Amino acid sequence: MINIIGYSEAKLALLFTEWGEKSFHVHQVLNWIYHRGVEDFSEMTNISKSLRAKLDDYFFIGFPRIEKKTVSKDGTTKYLFCLDDDSRIESVWIPDTGRKTLCISTQVGCRLACTFCLTGTLGLKRNLTSAEFVGQYMAVNRALPEEDRITNVVIMGMGEPLDNYEPVVDGLRLMVSPEAMAIGNRRITLSTSGLVDKLEQFQGEDIHVNLAVSLNATEDSTRDRIMPINKKYPIRVLLDALRKHPLKKSRRITFEYVLLKGVNDTHADAVRLAKLLKGFPCKINLIAFNDFEGVDCQSPSRETVLDFQNYLISKNYTAFIRKPRGEDILGACGQLAAETLAVS
Ligand code: SF4
Repeated sequence: MINIIGYSEAKLALLFTEWGEKSFHVHQVLNWIYHRGVEDFSEMTNISKSLRAKLDDYFFIGFPRIEKKTVSKDGTTKYLFCLDDDSRIESVWIPDTGRKTLCISTQVGCRLACTFCLTGTLGLKRNLTSAEFVGQYMAVNRALPEEDRITNVVIMGMGEPLDNYEPVVDGLRLMVSPEAMAIGNRRITLSTSGLVDKLEQFQGEDIHVNLAVSLNATEDSTRDRIMPINKKYPIRVLLDALRKHPLKKSRRITFEYVLLKGVNDTHADAVRLAKLLKGFPCKINLIAFNDFEGVDCQSPSRETVLDFQNYLISKNYTAFIRKPRGEDILGACGQLAAETLAVS
C-alpha cells in the first residue's frame, strides 16, 4: 500500500485515468486530504463509493509520528519524529511576530559533511519520502492550536534538499498547489549548499519558492575545508549558475553566511563577499555560529559580527544578523541531529 500523503497531483491524475475516473476527482481528493484533513477515505462523501473503495485498496493516509516535543524558553519548539523504519528526524517550529515558521528536514542525516553542522556528522542514512517530507508540516500543524498554525516553511532542517530531488519537488508542488496545501510560494524558502547540477535542474522547474544559498566563505580554500561540496562546485561555478537563471522580477536570493571565528569572519572576507555578490539581487543573512558540543568551530565576537554586517551595509547590501532561536534545545541552525544521535 502507498501513502497518499505526498503523492503528487500528476501521479494521481495518471492513476485516475488508468482507473477510468474523471480528472476532476483529483482535486476533490486533494481537498479532502489537505484542506479538510480527513484520515479515512470513507469520509470523502462527495466521491462515489466505488472510487473510495479503489482508493482504500491502493492507498493509506499516514503521518510521521511525533515522538517528542521540546520547548525552548523563547517558544521555539523542536519536534522529534519517529519514522516507520525507526529513523529519527527533527523539525523546528519558530514563532515570531506575525509569522510561525516550520523548518523541515529532507534526509535522515546528510552526506555533505559541512564542518559546522551536527547533521553532517551523521552521514547520510537515507532520503525522506515525499510523504515524510510534507508529513512533517501536516503532523505539526495538526498538533498546533488554530492561532499557532504554520504560516511559513523553510527547508533548512536535516539534509540537503536538492540531494533528495524528486520527493522534495513532488512535495513542493503539493505545498504550493491551491488544491492541496495552498502555501504561497513566497512563504516557502528552500535552502541549498549549492549542488549546481541539481540547482540548474530546479531552476528549470515551474516552482517559484524563495531560494537561499549557504555560501559561508569567500575563497575556495576556506569553503573546500568547511563545505567539502565546494571541491566539486567551487564558488565561481555556483555563482555563475545562479547568474544564468535570474529570479523573477522583485525576487531576491538569500545568501546565508555562518560566521566562524578565525575561519571566515575577517574584514577581508567581508570585502571579498561584497565583491563576489556584486550585481546579485540578494539579501545576506549572517548567522553567528554558537558553540555546541560535537562540532569543532567557535563563535565570533559580537563586535566582529557587527563590523561584518556594517561593511556589507556600507556597500549597499541588505544584510541581516539572524536572531538565534531555540539554542537551549539545540534547535538552531546546524544543531539538528542531537536527539537523533541520542536515540540511535
Ligand atoms: S549544513 Fe546542510 S548541507 Fe551541510 S551537512 Fe548540514 S544539513 Fe548537510
